[in-house]
Amino acid sequence: MADETGTGEEACGICGGGTLEEVLNYRSLQRVTSDCRSWPAGGRLGVCRACGAVQKPADDAFLTDIEAIYRSYTIYHQAAGAEQAVFEQVSGLPASRSVKLLDTFRRYVGLNATGRMLDVGCGNGATIRAFGQVAPGWTKVGTEFDDKYRSEVESIPLTEPLHVGPVGEVAGTFDVITMIHVLEHIVDPVAVLATLRGKLTPGGLLLIEVPHHPANPFELLIADHRSHFTADSLSRALTAAGCEIMSVAENWIPKELSVVARPAVAQRPAAPGGEPVAARDRIAGSIAWLRRTADRLRELADTGSVGLFGTSIAGTWLAAEAGDRIGFFVDEDPNRSGRSYLGRPVLSPATVAAGSRVFVGLPPAVAAGICGRLATPGVAYLAPPA
Ligand SMILES: [Zn+2]
Repeated sequence: MADETGTGEEACGICGGGTLEEVLNYRSLQRVTSDCRSWPAGGRLGVCRACGAVQKPADDAFLTDIEAIYRSYTIYHQAAGAEQAVFEQVSGLPASRSVKLLDTFRRYVGLNATGRMLDVGCGNGATIRAFGQVAPGWTKVGTEFDDKYRSEVESIPLTEPLHVGPVGEVAGTFDVITMIHVLEHIVDPVAVLATLRGKLTPGGLLLIEVPHHPANPFELLIADHRSHFTADSLSRALTAAGCEIMSVAENWIPKELSVVARPAVAQRPAAPGGEPVAARDRIAGSIAWLRRTADRLRELADTGSVGLFGTSIAGTWLAAEAGDRIGFFVDEDPNRSGRSYLGRPVLSPATVAAGSRVFVGLPPAVAAGICGRLATPGVAYLAPPA
């Protein structure tokens, strides 16, 4: 992959040994931020020629983008007026899913009755609160880059004072460290994972949760995600950081990867092989599908009024792709229906008028479930292209 002068080669942030090949048709795609704002085209996406890890090169343009995105995150939250709902949308796991994830983890590893856990990038404490529900005897501590949610986090029972600053500065060691929807944002994921490994007790466990782009192509459009992980690339990053994988699950939470790891007893070489060809093919297929999906929505808008299902990443991106031609949104979340989004009303399925068409622009497997579930006489729920 060329650097800004077009002459250099950028190193892979996962294996360190390969260089990045740019996905050339990515730059022309509009993007979205992880807090669901439209973001202009111009990003760069690369695939490591050696290991196949998919990532944004951490060049000046990317660093400038993420600085601008994170600076306006706060402004956006304050303006939105529904801070907690927005924050949970940003972290990607509403409270109920945090409990489901941590309960699955607890049953998988068999947690002791007591211990000490650290949540990296704890936000308003959703993961810490959920951990307290599934392991009530544990003490807990969170880290963040500011203390906006300090009182909320510290009000959770058995929770130590919030640590504001780099995770390497947190005192002591931990029996469990969780990192939920954080690693994909980090510029040097291997270095941070190595720091976390050094914070684990002997026998301590890491739980990492990230989006899984093969199950959700829209994830590739998120401007502030540095890494777009697969089971292979996340395992590779953990191995490079001196960890041993215990479990990689694609089914603990839909469209996400849940990985449990522990410190490796002996330094192991990186896994051989890698998947550069498969990764390039998969990305090309995902981008082609995203374009077909946007085309389909524009065709529908050309032939009459159309609504759009969902008000998160996919809905935000598709609405921008369709210009101002979306009549309304449909959302099953009662916290979102009845409001407006991007200047359009958000309807619950029950309030969609007879004769309406609603485009379900989500990954085909997800869309099929929604179209089947919401099928009703008089309202056409339309699936995306295959
Ligand atoms: Zn690589």
